[in-house]
Amino acid sequence: MRKHIVAGNWKMNNNLSKTENLLNELKKQTKSSDAEVMVAPTFVNLSHAFKTLKQTDIEAVAQNMHFAENGAYTGEISADMLKSIGINTVILGHSERRAYYNETDASLAKKIDAALANNMRSIFCFGEELADRKSGNQETIVASQIKNALFHLKADAFTNIVLAYEPVWAIGTGETASPEQAQEMHAFIRQLLSDKYGDAVANSVSILYGGSVKPNNAREIFSKPDVDGGLIGGASLKAEDFYAIVNAF
Ligand code: 13P
Repeated sequence: MRKHIVAGNWKMNNNLSKTENLLNELKKQTKSSDAEVMVAPTFVNLSHAFKTLKQTDIEAVAQNMHFAENGAYTGEISADMLKSIGINTVILGHSERRAYYNETDASLAKKIDAALANNMRSIFCFGEELADRKSGNQETIVASQIKNALFHLKADAFTNIVLAYEPVWAIGTGETASPEQAQEMHAFIRQLLSDKYGDAVANSVSILYGGSVKPNNAREIFSKPDVDGGLIGGASLKAEDFYAIVNAF
């Protein structure tokens, strides 16, 4: 049975006091599903979040990291730094990082390697833009993103990889992929994994959907057989909304 995962990507939101408030609200929520729950606050508050969530079943995770071990990379953060404050999971390749910070499949392959070398779990994000969807190229784009960043890995690496399909046109727009569109893409991704690594690996990797998941559409999206959870932006900033999604399984 694959893990169900619901992860909240807070992006560049919440200063320290807002972070404290939201963490406290999250601690009051009740989980009635089997989903693993994660939240990704800004780096500035990550250590604080880790300590606050330590006795809970919510995992604090990072939104990004650099591929180098350390060195002259002003403003960047290494896997070793994250590990040293207790962080074991990192979101990599979010479309905002690809669009605004020039992250490429090649640099993401290096980040994935750095995470694995440090025994960290990666939530690897990818997804097509609107023009790709309109021209029917979504599967070609997604296949190349996955192959370029991940297909140099050995099969056993996939125990530490979670995939997150986030169509760029659905992020923050209020327009979700339909449950059928999500299922179709997730099944395509699983087939891609199966062709390269075999069914056992393909069936063990959790594939999350991200893009305007809300309390009122989560249940239908999560009901699809190849959708194993969600990566939640806007709706993760309110504890009740986020837990309505967590409990949609
Ligand atoms: P929204 O849920 O705000 O569309 O954001 C999705 C996302 O980018 C999560 O990483």
